[in-house]
Amino acid sequence: MQTFEYRQSTSVDQAVQAGARSKRAQQYADVRFIAGGTTLVDLMKLDVERPNQVVDINGLPLAQIKTSADGGLVIGALARNSAVAHHPVVQRDYAVLSLALLSGASPQLRNMATTAGNLLQRTRCVYFRDTAHACNKREPGSGCSAIGGHNRMLAILGTSKDCIASNPSDQNVALTALEATIQVQGVKGNQSIPIQDFYLKPGSTPNSENVLEPGDLIVSVTLPPPAPDTRSHYLKLRDRAAYEFALASAAIVIKVNGGRIERARVALGGVGTVPWRSREAEQVLEGHTADVALFRRAAEAALKDAQPASENGFKVELAKRCIVQALTVSTQSA
Ligand SMILES: Cc1cc2nc3c(=O)[nH]c(=O)nc-3n(C[C@H](O)[C@H](O)[C@H](O)COP(=O)(O)OP(=O)(O)OC[C@H]3O[C@@H](n4cnc5c(N)ncnc54)[C@H](O)[C@@H]3O)c2cc1C
Repeated sequence: MQTFEYRQSTSVDQAVQAGARSKRAQQYADVRFIAGGTTLVDLMKLDVERPNQVVDINGLPLAQIKTSADGGLVIGALARNSAVAHHPVVQRDYAVLSLALLSGASPQLRNMATTAGNLLQRTRCVYFRDTAHACNKREPGSGCSAIGGHNRMLAILGTSKDCIASNPSDQNVALTALEATIQVQGVKGNQSIPIQDFYLKPGSTPNSENVLEPGDLIVSVTLPPPAPDTRSHYLKLRDRAAYEFALASAAIVIKVNGGRIERARVALGGVGTVPWRSREAEQVLEGHTADVALFRRAAEAALKDAQPASENGFKVELAKRCIVQALTVSTQSA
C-alpha cells in the first residue's frame, strides 16, 4: 500500500480545491475524497488505488435527506445507505431505491456506505482487483484478462473488446429507473448531471468511468417528484440470498391505468458495464396491456444486443426472467 497524506475538509470549497490538485481524474487519481471508505480503503490495500492524498469529507454538511421545492427528494452525498433505505419518504414514494439499497452488502457496510461513494464504487471484476493480472481499466493498454478468463459475474451489455467489467451497484440501478440527477460542485462551478449521462461505457478507454473532472465533488442526488399512482420494484438475482452482488437485477418504475401501461422505466443491474437503462423494453411496454406475454417481449428487447463472454451466457435468460418477474410484481393489483 502506498504511503499517503490524510486531510480533513471543513468546507465544500476547501474539498473541491484539494481535489482539483489531482493530476488525473480517474484511475490512479493522486487525490481521492473519502466518505465511508468501504470501496476506497479496500482498493488502496490491494494497491489498485494509489492516491498520495486522501481528503476526508465526512465533516461536510452533506448528509441531509429532504423534500425539494418541486416535491422531489434531495439526498445528500454523505447520506448513509441505511439512512436512505429506511427514510419514510423513500419507502413510501421511491420503494425501488429502498429495496435496492437493502439488497446490497451487509447492515454494517450500509451504515458506512454513502450515496456518492455508492455512485462511484468500482467494479468487482477479479482481474481489476488483482494487480498480478492485465486489466485495461486499471492499467490502460495492458489487456483484459477477463475476456476468456473467469467472467461469470461480468457484463453482457455495453462491453467492448477492451473491457467486460460490470458495474456492481444496486443503488445506481434504482436511481437510473428513477431518472435521478447528480449535483456536482467543482472548480468550474455547479453542474446537474442526469444519471443517464454520468457513466461512460468502456469503449477503448475503460479507465474513464464517468464524466467527473479532478476536484468535482458530488454534493447530492435529486429525485423527481413521484408521479401519482406510480409503483416500483427492485428484484436482485444472485448466488446466495444475502451479502452478494447481482448476477442480474431489474428496477421497475411503472404506471398502469385500467390494465394499460401508461409509463414505464426499466433499468438493469449485474449485466451492464454501466447501470443499464433499457429504453427498448420501455418502448415495448408503454401503451399496451400489462400481461406476461408483453413482459416477455420487453425482456427480449432489453437483451437483444447482449454479448456474453465464455462463462456468462446464462445471464441472458436470467436477466430476461428477472425483468418478467419484476414487472409482474410491480403491476400486481395495479
Ligand atoms: C464486502 C462488500 C460487499 C458489498 N456488496 C454490495 C452489494 O451487494 N451491492 C452494492 O451495490 N454494493 C455493494 N458493496 C459496495 C458498497 O455499496 C460500496 O463500497 C459503498 O457504497 C461505497 O460507499 P463509500 O461511502 O464507502 O465510498 P468510499 O469508499 O468512501 O468512496 C468510493 C469512491 O467514491 C469517491 N467519493 C466518495 N464520495 C464522493 C463525493 N461526495 N464526491 C466525489 N467522489 C466521492 C471516493 O473518492 C472513491 O473514489 C459492497 C462492498 C463490500 C466491501
